[in-house]
Amino acid sequence: EPVILGPEQHGIDPKLVSNNAVRVTQTLQEAGFKAFVVGGAVRDLLLGVKPKDFDIATDATPEEVKKLFRRAFIIGRRFQIVHVMFGQDLLEVTTFRGKGSDNAPKDEHGRVLRDNNFGPQHEDAERRDFTINAMYYDPATQSVLDYHGGIEDIRAKVLRIIGQPEARYREDPVRMLRVVRFAAKLQFTIEPATRAPIPVMAPLINNVPAARVFDEMLKLLMSGHALACLKELRSSGLHHGLLPLLDVVLEQPIGMKFVTLALESTDTRVKAGKGVSPGFLFASLLWHQVLEKWNAYRAAGESPIPALHLAADDVLDNQTDNLALQRRIATDMRDIWAMQPRFERRTGKTPYKLLEHPRFRAGFDFLLLRCESGELDAEIGNWWATFYAGDIAERERLVNSAR
Ligand code: ATP
Ligand code: MG
Repeated sequence: EPVILGPEQHGIDPKLVSNNAVRVTQTLQEAGFKAFVVGGAVRDLLLGVKPKDFDIATDATPEEVKKLFRRAFIIGRRFQIVHVMFGQDLLEVTTFRGKGSDNAPKDEHGRVLRDNNFGPQHEDAERRDFTINAMYYDPATQSVLDYHGGIEDIRAKVLRIIGQPEARYREDPVRMLRVVRFAAKLQFTIEPATRAPIPVMAPLINNVPAARVFDEMLKLLMSGHALACLKELRSSGLHHGLLPLLDVVLEQPIGMKFVTLALESTDTRVKAGKGVSPGFLFASLLWHQVLEKWNAYRAAGESPIPALHLAADDVLDNQTDNLALQRRIATDMRDIWAMQPRFERRTGKTPYKLLEHPRFRAGFDFLLLRCESGELDAEIGNWWATFYAGDIAERERLVNSAR
């Protein structure tokens, strides 16, 4: 019953399909199984974008898949999949999920806890989140199987959830965050029935394990469209109680200069294919909270450096309570914040020592953001930029002329 489209109808460029994806589908098919590229990769191929990773769907069980590849590992509990590795390249192979998942174990709010019930392909399609994410591409025949009108929605740039929206959000509240992320990233409109229940159902996100919400928020913030995503979160009514972190960020007017600048620079870096460190990102998002507390401790008579450490502790404690912020990220954030007062001491050996700091680059970028937002005088940022780039003589001159 799916609509089947040939190459001249869907226009996918076979050169955009990775060799390893072809290899996996071919191996499975030669062993007598069905195998397709599925989900986000098909969506991207139809949009003419090179997919960043390829997911494969098959009717082979995880055990059967594992036997066919030299380096294959069954992972996951809530949702079992097989990781197939070729050198650095990793492909996720998923067995078709079936309707049996209607009886899957759920929590008291209706959230599905585990889903390892295998089933026919059309049921696998129905279980996926959006129409544009529920298409299958067979590299061998170059055909696309479309079960839910995904092709039309891609052409109309519409994000539409499959099935009854309330029921789908109840099963997995993270889908509400995915709506927002895809709408912002693909610049698609959200179909009205898909959007309507979100403000009402938003609190269900509180029952999702914090680590999973955090992962999804990280994807959202690192999507290259973080600013658009946050605006969309607000307009969808998703900005309360998501993460303590987001409350802080989203409750500030979105025009807030520092956060906006930080997100813009993140988006620019992601779009240019450069790395972004989550530590830097979160240090930026929470800086104003740190500043507020820092000032409060100083006003209470604490000297500047200990006051900053106390402020950082308060802010991080608040975030790590629910284990959402991993320790590694929290350590990076603390380093970046703690470095800031050291940039103000520009005499003697101090600036040379700071240059040696392993996280200097991040701390310096952070300083520049503070200057750009108007929090600090631009002079200090310029001084450090010249000092950083300068030769020995130039650095001497700068240190000697510094106040
Ligand atoms: P991205 O570009 O972010 O990787 P993606 O669509 O590939 O986008 P993944 O999280 O990699 O997103 O998921 C792969 C596919 O699995 C999706 O396209 C969708 O079909 C299905 N899927 C993922 N998460 C869910 C979910 N929460 N509910 C239903 N289906 C989902
Ligand atoms: Mg993907």
